[in-house]
Amino acid sequence: MRLNRRHFLHTATAFSLLGGRAWAATETRFEDFVIRTVSDGKLVLPIDFLMPEGADQQQIASLLQEAGVSGETYDSPLNLTLMQRGEDLILFDAGSGPDFMPTAGRLPDALAAMGIAPDQITHVLFTHAHPDHIWGVLDDFDEPIFRNAQHLINRVERDFWLDPATMETIDPSRQTFVAGARRRIETLGDRLEVFEDGDEVLPGVTALMTPGHTPGHTSFDLAGQAFVIGDAVTTPHMGFHRPDLPSGSDQNPERGAETRVSMLTRLADSGVAVVGYHLPDGGIGKVVRDGDAFAFQSA
Ligand SMILES: [Zn+2]
Repeated sequence: MRLNRRHFLHTATAFSLLGGRAWAATETRFEDFVIRTVSDGKLVLPIDFLMPEGADQQQIASLLQEAGVSGETYDSPLNLTLMQRGEDLILFDAGSGPDFMPTAGRLPDALAAMGIAPDQITHVLFTHAHPDHIWGVLDDFDEPIFRNAQHLINRVERDFWLDPATMETIDPSRQTFVAGARRRIETLGDRLEVFEDGDEVLPGVTALMTPGHTPGHTSFDLAGQAFVIGDAVTTPHMGFHRPDLPSGSDQNPERGAETRVSMLTRLADSGVAVVGYHLPDGGIGKVVRDGDAFAFQSA
C-alpha cells in the first residue's frame, strides 16, 4: 500500500444528489489498481438480529454495551468496493436498490457524485445474494442497471437461492430474501456467470469461499494486496472481539464463526488491506491482533 487518503467531495453535485450531506469516499492505491468504497447508505436493524437463538444473550448484551451499542436498533453501514484497474471498473456487489429499506439504495447517487455512470461498470462480482448485496442490480423498470457489465457469482451461492427446497427450509423471516434473490438471478439470466471456489475470476482477482453467512458466501483476494471480506464479519463490536461467537446475521452461525476465526487469523498474519461491507469509516482498513482476539483498524 503506497498511499492512504480520504476524499471528501464537497461538490455541488454531491450535495444536491445526497440531500445536502457531505459525501465521503475512501480511496486506497495499490501497485496497479485503486480501490474506493462507495456507500449504499445504511441498514437500520433490530438489535436482536445480533443475538441468535441459543446464544448467551447476556454475554452478547454486555459486549454490545462495551462497544456503546444500545437501544432497540443499530445502524450498519453499506460499503461497496470499487476496483479500478486500467479500463476495468469492477464493482463488488450491487447494493440494495429502492425496495429493501428506505435508508439504503443510495449507490446510483453515490456513483454519480463520483462522476461514474452505471454503464461504465465493466464487472459486478457478488459476495453473496442477500438483499443489501444483490437487490440493487435491477433498476426501477426491472432492467439490469449495469448494462455493460459481466456479472459473476459463486456456483454454490447461485444454486442455493434457485433450489426450490430453500424456500421450504429457510427461516420464514428470510423467505423474502429467497424470492428477491431468485427474481434477480433469473432476470439477469445469461448475463450472470458462475465461478468455482478458488477460481481466478479476473486477472489477479481470486474467489475464496468464506461460508456460513450464506452457503456460498465468497471473499475476493485482490493480487495478494487487499481482501474483500464481504459479510464474513458483519459487526465490528462482536465479529473482531469474539469471532468465535455465533452471529444472528449468519444463516449457519456455527459455520460462520469457524470461517471468521480462520479468516481473521490469516488476515492479521498477512497484514493486507481489508474491505468490509458493513465495517465503519468506509470499511477499508486492517485486521490487527488485540489480546486473544482481533480488532479492525480503519485506514
Ligand atoms: Zn450484508
